[in-house]
Amino acid sequence: MKAVLSIAGSDSSGGAGIQADLKTMTVHGVFGMTAITALTAQNTTGVTAIQESTPEFLEQQIDACLSDIPADAVKIGMLPSSAQVEVVAKKLREYKVKNLVVDPVMVATSGSKLMKDSTASVMANLLFPISTVITPNIPEAEALLGKTIANKNQMEEAAKALSKEYGCSVLIKGGHSIEDACDVLFDKGQVSWFETTKIDNPNTHGTGCTLSSAIASNLALGFDLKESVKNAKEYITSTISDGLDLGKGSGPLNHMV
Ligand code: PLP
Repeated sequence: MKAVLSIAGSDSSGGAGIQADLKTMTVHGVFGMTAITALTAQNTTGVTAIQESTPEFLEQQIDACLSDIPADAVKIGMLPSSAQVEVVAKKLREYKVKNLVVDPVMVATSGSKLMKDSTASVMANLLFPISTVITPNIPEAEALLGKTIANKNQMEEAAKALSKEYGCSVLIKGGHSIEDACDVLFDKGQVSWFETTKIDNPNTHGTGCTLSSAIASNLALGFDLKESVKNAKEYITSTISDGLDLGKGSGPLNHMV
């Protein structure tokens, strides 16, 4: 069985973070492992508390996993501190990890900060150059580039600019900020658009985590990047379109469809 490691935060409500990652990996038929960067107390309405893992304890979790079961892909999500980023970069190099998907998680949909401001550039400099693909949404791509993205043309230019700067492939997720559910991939000089029509369901908590885990699972299974993104997008669409409606806020996806 293929194995995938998620280095990410825990969402107590089970909709995002490592809980979404493990559900996604299980449905994809790969074996999910985790190295937890932070515990969050949260539900569908927001995050009430965050308890970070020390860099040392994060390192111990990664060592425990990768010294025993090699990963066919690694997905990185919430990484609050620069010290954690440094440990993760060191470990990924040490274990010569392939198929690395980095979701540069900065702020939750509910508005809570999941990363310190100073961590973004450290993550970009240390992790992007060793990743297979990075998966920023529009606000994250804007923060990384320091300019606004207002249309599909600018999305494409932003993907090219990030790819050039960091030497990795880039998937920018349009969500509903530009046009309905349009994502652009810049991979080895080629632009690919992935578009679906808007699904009328406000319950989208954990979509970013789920998408990056689905891409990592597909890469682990041997699909190339473009095929992995296409499959992952189809998976996300089915989990949203089920219409699950749990909690008082933006509810989770249904992985059991
Ligand atoms: N909580 C954790 C632990 C996460 O890793 C993430 C996103 O990656 C979120 C919350 C945010 O999820 P969303 O913005 O989909 O609500």
